[in-house]
Parts: sequence; C-alpha cells; structure tokens
Amino acid sequence: MKFQRPRGTNDLTPEQSPLWRYLRHLFEQISTQFGYVGVDTPVFERTELFTRTVGEDTDVVAKEMYTFADRKGRSLSLRPEATAGVVRLVVENSLLASGGTHRLCYWGPMFRYDRPQAGRYRQFHQLGVEAFGTGGAALDAETIELFVTLLREVGLSDLKVTLGSVGDDACRPGYIEILRKFLAGKGDVLCKTCLTRTGSNPLRVFDCKVPGCREAIADAPKILDHLCDDCRTHMDHVGELLQTAGISVEIDPSLVRGLDYYTRTVYEVHYPSLGAQSALGGGGRYDGLVEQCGGPATPAVGFSAGIERLILAIQSEGTLSEKDWKSRGAYLCLMCAGAEAAGGRIAAHLREAMPVEVDYTGRGLKAQLKTANNRGARFAILLGEDEIANRTATLKDLDSGEQKVLSEEQLLTLIKTWIAGETRQSGL
Ligand code: AMP
Repeated sequence: MKFQRPRGTNDLTPEQSPLWRYLRHLFEQISTQFGYVGVDTPVFERTELFTRTVGEDTDVVAKEMYTFADRKGRSLSLRPEATAGVVRLVVENSLLASGGTHRLCYWGPMFRYDRPQAGRYRQFHQLGVEAFGTGGAALDAETIELFVTLLREVGLSDLKVTLGSVGDDACRPGYIEILRKFLAGKGDVLCKTCLTRTGSNPLRVFDCKVPGCREAIADAPKILDHLCDDCRTHMDHVGELLQTAGISVEIDPSLVRGLDYYTRTVYEVHYPSLGAQSALGGGGRYDGLVEQCGGPATPAVGFSAGIERLILAIQSEGTLSEKDWKSRGAYLCLMCAGAEAAGGRIAAHLREAMPVEVDYTGRGLKAQLKTANNRGARFAILLGEDEIANRTATLKDLDSGEQKVLSEEQLLTLIKTWIAGETRQSGL
C-alpha cells in the first residue's frame, strides 16, 4: 500500500531543506540584530482563542480553520495564524509586567483549509515578529524595515510595500455605519455571506472573492476618507519614517487585512512578479488584543510572512544560488575492509572544521565519487589500504580534480587553512 501526503501539504525534501535552513538562519540573525527574541507556541490552541480574536466572521475562522474535539470533548483548532497564540503566551507568562518594549519572533507551520494552488497550501509556514509596548509609528516602521531587510538580503528588492488603516475605536464605528448604509443598497447583488456580514461585521465584506460582490463594493466608501486625525497621522508617520529609511511605500485605500484584531495602520509587502499570490506577508497594529486576551492594555504591532512564497520568489528570480545556502563539506570514501576506524578518527577531526559525510557502502571508488559530486561536496577524502597502513589520506579537490597524499595532521591543517582562505575571500 502506498500513501500520499494530504492535499495542500508539502514535504520538505533533502533537496529543498538547505535553502529553508539558510532562510531560517538569516531570519534569526536579522531579527536578533533588531532585538527580537524567538518564541514558540503549540500548533493547536483552544478554538475560542481564534474565534474571539481573529474573528468569527473572518474567512480564516469561518471557512478555513481545522477544528476538532479532543478525547474529552474540548474544542481545539490548529493555529491558522500565530499572533493570537503569541499574545496568549505573552499574557499567560506575564511578560508585560515589567513594562517597556518586548520584541518577539517566531517561525512555524500554520493550517488553513483553503483551495490549494501555487503559493496557497493547507499546511504552510510563516515567520513573523510581534512587538509590544508602544503605540508610536516608529515601532510599526521598525517591523517593516526588518521584513524588508530580510527580503533584500535574499535578493528580493523589487518590492511593493503598501500601507492602509482600519481605524480605531474613535473612527471605525462611524465608518462602519456609513459602509453598512452603502451595503444595504446592494442587497440584491451581494452573496449570502456578505449579506450576513453587512449586519455583523461589514468590514469583512471586503474579503469576499465572489466577482459580483467585488464589483458591487468597488465604489464603496473607503475608511481612509473617514479616519480620525490620530489614525491618519499614525499611518502617514509610518510612511515618512520608512521613506527616511530608504523604503518607498504606497497608500492602498482598500487594504483592510482579513483578521478582526487589527487597529490603525496595517501593511502588506508584495512581490509583484509572483503573479496572483504576490503577497509575501502583511501585518499591522493590534492595540486592543492584549487586553482582550486578559492582559494589561498594551499597544502592539507585528507581521507574518509566508515562507513557501518567499522560497518561490527566491527560486523563480534566481537571486541566490546553491553556493549561498549549501555548506560544502568533505565526502569520506572508505575503499577497503577495516577502514572504518581510521575513517571515524579522521571524520571526527575534520568535523571541527567542515561537514563530513562517510560512505560505508563498500562500493567502488567511482560510485562513491559520483555520490560525492551529487552531494555537492568540496573535497573527497580517499582511504584505501595504503593510506591505512601509512596513516595518511588522499585529498581530492572536487572542483579542480587535483589530489595529493597527506598525513592525517597535514590533512586537517590544510582544510583549516583552506577554510580560512575562503572566509577571507568572501569578506566574512
Ligand atoms: P495573512 O496574514 O493571511 O495575510 O498571511 C500572511 C502571509 O502568509 C501571506 O502574505 C502569505 O505569504 C502567507 N499565506 C497565507 N495563507 C497562506 C496559504 N494558505 N498558503 C501559503 N501561504 C499563505
């Protein structure tokens, strides 16, 4: 019997994993440089955490969540996004008691039951940051700058950063009434879901993908025309700070994000050449969420980015090459019986300097060298009867094809010298 992975999921194969590892390492490096510390939350939470925060009327909760009862009948859901869980973590662990700013970041799988297509999966991965403690525009701008720094570092520079606002308690209720009145006049063309949302949560009508609804709301009143001064100033200031940091932004009046907890300034980062699914990520402020989850009233902002999309963009643009993410090591070819002990000794030494893979298959040298090349190894180290008898090893440079016989000590010294030279050349 042969099994297949569930629809909308992906395997991370040995071929793909080095790039993922590289990206994760880079994200950890950059977020550390910006002062963000990694956290991890469970992949499932109580369903209520999401219905109450992301919102019952959102597509994510109403249509896409994997919800199940555990053996005691408690309703749990696979996390469709990370912010709600991180806010729960922050409150449950009383992280905000000390005041000040708290900067957190994460990386992990998320789950949404959506129609799978290129760049859209049922299990996908997000990296993201959440920053708690100040409501000023500088913190929003910082999260965007971190995101853009990561994207530029992997060679994606042709970005479109859009800013919008979803208002706050002062201006959103007034706008919602105006929108509701507008939608009431479209009752005969809106889909059933939009009709319900017109009553319960009219902002979510903007998330509808039904062509008739999209057409009907094309000339709907825009929240940007109804913002209070504080919200407007906040969004404009985020834009100014980013311009100063060398990041140009566009204002998008129809940017409302798909989740209920957002307040004030929201943003998205697109990579237009990805086509239909061009959003690499998005985020915004959620100044009421911590309090809503039982914590002290604390303004906060964050973003999440889709890792599969990022990988697609990197690969389709060819902005990085294998050289960037593959660490090239040594491949140890054992060519006679009894070579394991010497091989183990040499491998243990060399691993201080570079990755070493040992071939125990006992195949002929040609087959072993073929594997070494397929692995992208930098060196092959050959251990046959002569080498064992003389406590030597033959080092083969797989780029130039040259080879020489060295003592075990010379071998380690030479490899270390070579690595130091490479490091100097790459300017590290
Ligand atoms: P969202 O908060 O829904 O805008 O998601 C943030 C980012 O996660 C998006 O811009 C995408 O890059 C990614 N993303 C969201 N849903 C999916 C999905 N079903 N499959 C793959 N990536 C996704």
